[in-house]
Amino acid sequence: MSEVLFRRVAVIGIGLIGSSLARVLRRDCPDTRITACARRPETRDAALRLGIADEVTDDPAAAVTEADLVVIATPLSAYADIGRRIAAALLPGTIVTDVGSVKEAVIRELAPALPPGVHFVPGHPIAGTEHSGPEAGFAELFRDRWCVLTPPAGTDLGAVAKVTELWKRAGMRVVTMPADHHDKVLAMTSHLPHLIAYTIVSTATDLEDDLKSEVIAFSAGGFRDFTRIAASDPVMWRDIFMRNREAVLEMLQRFNEDLTALQRAIRWGEADTLEERFTRTRAIRRSIIEAKQA
Ligand code: NAP
Repeated sequence: MSEVLFRRVAVIGIGLIGSSLARVLRRDCPDTRITACARRPETRDAALRLGIADEVTDDPAAAVTEADLVVIATPLSAYADIGRRIAAALLPGTIVTDVGSVKEAVIRELAPALPPGVHFVPGHPIAGTEHSGPEAGFAELFRDRWCVLTPPAGTDLGAVAKVTELWKRAGMRVVTMPADHHDKVLAMTSHLPHLIAYTIVSTATDLEDDLKSEVIAFSAGGFRDFTRIAASDPVMWRDIFMRNREAVLEMLQRFNEDLTALQRAIRWGEADTLEERFTRTRAIRRSIIEAKQA
């Protein structure tokens, strides 16, 4: 990577996503200084030990001092407090971005705290695993995935271009869209599947003991895949459902209607309905593979 994109980056929340981005910066922008912020000493020690931060602090305001880029990568419920704490320490011209999985609520909770002259470019790198913390990160996490930016109307275009460049350097394809549209799309592609996975796994845990042990012993493809998704961080997912309520409820309503239709097809022995539906969904899987997203 040639030119220095950012001189000093503050990463507030150095877990899976924050530490993966820090690794990208380390690999490709060795002249960029990185300050990591986390509450727990063990998280901060890990960031230093892994060599993904030059300095660490538990104070978000101290982290952003002199930063030209601030990346907020904590669970969503921490955003409002972080916004209040960093506001007075931000320099005019600083770019603030984030990686949160919901965008309208983030803009609502964070933007009012930021002083004039600070450029806020909300973002969501759509890449992840079910693991958490700084050790779980890796630079290749973002490669060939999509990053959605949702800059509110009037956002400085130069700031949007720099954040776009950052994620492109991480290997991502970057697209810009309105925050409410992002939240609807993600409600379907990510939030609803997680809700279904959490439900299936908790249904299994409510079974009688003998049945439950067999479900675990014989957990072939289907159930095992759901358990992987349902192992995702509980706090992160609590925050997502609390902040994308309307869009998730809308998709859930549609899902319930479709499930009822399949339930009816099974009850009435409508084999053609089932086959036709399963054929259509198989085609979707193929198109995801062709789009290199599987
Ligand atoms: P994570 O691995 O649990 O990391 C969260 C980090 O934030 C930890 O370093 C944690 O350290 C720190 N933290 C928590 N509260 C804080 C606070 N108040 N002040 C400063 N640091 C704080 O989580 P993640 O998976 O990277 O997710 C982070 C964000 O990325 C979330 O908003 C999520 O919506 C978004 N996202 C996640 C994925 C995914 O698949 N995981 C994908 C795309 C986007 P301490 O506990 O020591 O403070």
